[in-house]
Amino acid sequence: MSERLKGKVCLITGAGSGMGRVAAQVFAGEGASIVAVDLRGQQAEETAQLIIKTGGRGIAVQADVSSDTDAQKMVAAAVKAFGKLDVLYNNAGIFPEKDHSVLDTDSEVWDQVYRVNLKGVYLGCKYGIPQIVKGGGGSVINIASFVALVGCTVPQDAYTASKGAVIALTKSLAVQFGPKGVRSNAICPGPIETPLLTEWLFKEPAEKAKRLNRIPMGRFGKPEDVVYLALYLASPESSWTNGAVMVVDGGITSNYF
Ligand code: NAD
Repeated sequence: MSERLKGKVCLITGAGSGMGRVAAQVFAGEGASIVAVDLRGQQAEETAQLIIKTGGRGIAVQADVSSDTDAQKMVAAAVKAFGKLDVLYNNAGIFPEKDHSVLDTDSEVWDQVYRVNLKGVYLGCKYGIPQIVKGGGGSVINIASFVALVGCTVPQDAYTASKGAVIALTKSLAVQFGPKGVRSNAICPGPIETPLLTEWLFKEPAEKAKRLNRIPMGRFGKPEDVVYLALYLASPESSWTNGAVMVVDGGITSNYF
């Protein structure tokens, strides 16, 4: 068995579902100790149990990434349980049905999306990066989205703008903390079949077909398609990858017609 993350402590937000849960399992299988963070404590606990059942190391932390106190708490829990932090994986994000065009999105929805998708990344970094620096360096992985790179005729403007800001923030982090041994990179996934999409957007077969039609690879993504890139970014194999924005989208953003 390979152990690409042997000895690493990885904090993953939104680890109670979708890509975050798969990342937690894959990283644990590669030898990492996992801090599985989620707003839904029971879901985070299930992830930790899945890891422990297969012989891995993991703890669950119930936290809202948009709360300053909770962000402090999740990082403190990592250090308390495993002594340090090597990888901060800012994955938690929301994609509400009520987020649409700037013309018809309520301010409350806009603010909510920004609180989780952008402020959550800021707070994770605020408390996580000093610990990574303290341990001699490591990796920050920020999950953005392909929608931050191309326009869309069926808009989710708050989501799109928040993910664009995550990309900009990642570049600033890369430059600030690279000299301290912390590399920061963003991943832009295309549409991945997780509850984020399946719970509302993909319920309507016509909506699903419309999007499938745009994907040169002829299928939606699976969590693993993104997680294996994140594994590279978490491991020392990526020690000279810093400030990159990496697209995993089956070719959507390359598709003119
Ligand atoms: P998901 O809905 O399956 O999982 C997201 C998890 O984040 C959930 O368990 C949820 O409880 C948690 N969460 C939500 N708000 C939180 C908060 N305030 N604090 C802590 N945890 C919170 O979604 P997913 O598809 O696995 O998405 C993971 C990331 O990937 C998100 O940032 C999403 O925007 C991004 N993304 C997803 C897709 C896709 O097609 N699924 C595409 C591009 C980017």
